[in-house]
Order: sequence, then structure tokens, then C-alpha cells
Amino acid sequence: MLGAMTFCKAPCIVAQNPQVIDILNDVRIDSMAFFVQQLTGEQAVNVNGQADTIFSRYMGTPGNELAFQFAKKKFMDYGLAVDSLAFGAFSGKNLLGILVGTQFPEQIVMLGAHYDNLPVSATAPGADDNASGSAAVLEAARVFSGHTFPYTVIFALWDEEEQGLIGSKAYAAYAASNDLKILAYINVDMLGWDSNDDHVADIHVRPIAQSIQLANKAVMVDSLYEIGLGLHVVNPGFTASDHASFWNEGYTAIAIAEEYDNDFNPFWHTSADSLGQFNLPFYEKVAKLAFATLGECALGSTATGSGEAPAAGSFMATIHPNPAPGTVRLEYSLPFSATVSISIFDPAGKMVETSTNPDQPPGNHSTIWEAANFPAGIYLCRWQLTPANPNAAPVELIKPVILSR
Ligand SMILES: [Zn+2]
Repeated sequence: MLGAMTFCKAPCIVAQNPQVIDILNDVRIDSMAFFVQQLTGEQAVNVNGQADTIFSRYMGTPGNELAFQFAKKKFMDYGLAVDSLAFGAFSGKNLLGILVGTQFPEQIVMLGAHYDNLPVSATAPGADDNASGSAAVLEAARVFSGHTFPYTVIFALWDEEEQGLIGSKAYAAYAASNDLKILAYINVDMLGWDSNDDHVADIHVRPIAQSIQLANKAVMVDSLYEIGLGLHVVNPGFTASDHASFWNEGYTAIAIAEEYDNDFNPFWHTSADSLGQFNLPFYEKVAKLAFATLGECALGSTATGSGEAPAAGSFMATIHPNPAPGTVRLEYSLPFSATVSISIFDPAGKMVETSTNPDQPPGNHSTIWEAANFPAGIYLCRWQLTPANPNAAPVELIKPVILSR
């Protein structure tokens, strides 16, 4: 009976992690919005005991330096180790807030955003691009710093992205030449714009190192933690932000962002790019997706949507007992999040049972078919998977199940 189809939660490989839940519960949209106001000059910042205003974060401006000092003070207030990497002819510099891992301190997961901006004018708030990502990095630093993780977490703020990813390029090259073990880099650049309120976000990925698995993990995290975004996985992803610097050095990286293709922010790179245009509930969700994905990485969770791009061969199902006298257990293992439809066809090919289970997480699942009242014979059980990853192909598997009395 359809109504009797029940799902075992116990054997699932993937479960919500309490530490990630704590982190998500600690995220405050008013805290992030206030960081945006401070970074865009709507609110004063207080660095070195005096109130000051960030009118622009364009490279080389006083506001750029003030934003750097403001973020540095925040990282230090949160108890993070702070490092910076200066480079270039304009004394551009990156800022790193470091939460040292308790078990594998030399292995690093990173969340990064560029803090510099455009246009070149006296007043350049750059709220969406990219106070939104910078504020998310500060908020992540705030909520993560109350926790410990086996892996080192680095919160990165890049300079001179607008001149050609100069800051992140310098860091990624430094990391590669020093053989730094960066397991995952997550980029956040433009998180606040969602004019059609569809809550669709982009994940940009390319098949470099474990980037596909990291994108799958983000897709899995969206459903596992019920963040509620629609996700647009873009492969090959765009290269116009700092994650590309990591791809270029062969590191695992993704970008999480508002939808660039279908809903681009018309105020981008203008002096009208302000917090007032943000879709705040969307902004909060996108930030939470980045934080939960970062948290899963920092905890060393190996749960990804899939080790490879989803394929029929990676989906497995077994039927117990088979032949069956009555109750049949249909067991299956999802390598990625998917909506799963299970249908039973009788020996004449007629569908006699069907059930759809939306948004099931990766892992083991099972369902019961109460078959005692069906005539003996060879039936077919069909699983149809619609992956949560919109770029992944649907999967179908059919197996015979024999009812014998
Ligand atoms: Zn940007």
C-alpha cells in the first residue's frame, strides 16, 4: 500500500551535524546587514578608538585601508589569528583570519570574498559587489570562532579583485608554491540581489581537483539543512571572481553567488549599489549555504552529493527477500540528493503502486511494499531519480521482484 511505504532514517549515511546546526542558528541577518552598512558608509566604523566612514573601498583609497583595518579588528575581536599578504604597486593587501584546526592544522578550508570595489568615484558603496560577500565572511568569522574544528578554517578578504583578481592570484600562487594543503575554497561575491524573489542561487564549478564533489556537497547541504534555495549549478562556471585564482593553481574551489545569468543586478559597479536593494531573506539563505558547506568541510565530513557526476552506475538498489511471500523491502542507496519515484508494475505491465519521495538526502533508504494481497508472479520495481543538481541527468533502474506463495 502506498500509505504504508515508510522510510528508514537510521541507516542514512548523511545526517545533520549539530555543530553546523549551531552555526546556522547563530547567523543573524541584522548582524550581516550592519556589516554591509559599515562597509558601505551608511554606518560609521570604529577603528583605533575613533569613528570614521568608509566612502569607497576602491584600491588605494583611504576607505580601502579603513575597510582592511575594520575587518582586521573584527577578526582579532573574534580571537582569530590574523595574517596579511601585501602585494602590488598600490600596496594592496589581503586579510586572513585563521581558526587553527585541532587535528589537522596544516589542512585548510577557506571562505573568501573581495573587499575592494568599483566604481572610481568619491562615493562607491559597492554593497552587493562585494560588501555582501565581505560581510558574510565577517559573519562567518563571528559564528565559527565560537567552535573548534579538526581542520584549519581561513576567512579571507581579497584586495584588487576588480583589477583582475590580483589579491587572490597572489595568495593562490603563494599557497601553491609553498605546497599549502587547501582542501576547499568557497568564494562569495554578490549575494544580495534577487529581484524576482525566486531564491535561486548560482554554484559555479569546473572539473578541477575535487571541485565537482564540493559543488555536490553544497547541493546536498541545501537540502540536508533545509536552507530552501533553488540551486543553479553552472559548469563550466564563470571565472570572473577570486575562486578562479584557486582553479588556476589546481585547487578545489566553487563560487556561491546570486544568479548572474537570469537576474543580474543592474546597479552593479554603479554608485547606486546599496543595501536598500538587497533581498535580505535571500541574502541570509545564500550566506547560510556557504557557511553550512564550509562547516561540513571544516568538520571533515566526506559526505558529498557524489564522488563523480551523478550517473546510473552509482545508484544501487536491492530487494529483500526475493522471491517474496508477502512483505518486500526495497532498499536503495542514493549517491546524491534526489527526488525518488518508486513504482511497481504487475506481470501484465500495469502500474499497481507508485510513490514519490521529494528531496531525499544521499545515503541509504528503504521502503516497504506490502505485497501479500497481490497475485503471485514476476513484478518489476522501477526507481526514477531526479537529481537535486539541475545539471545532472535523471537516473532510472528497473529490477524484477518475484511474488511466490
Ligand atoms: Zn565582485
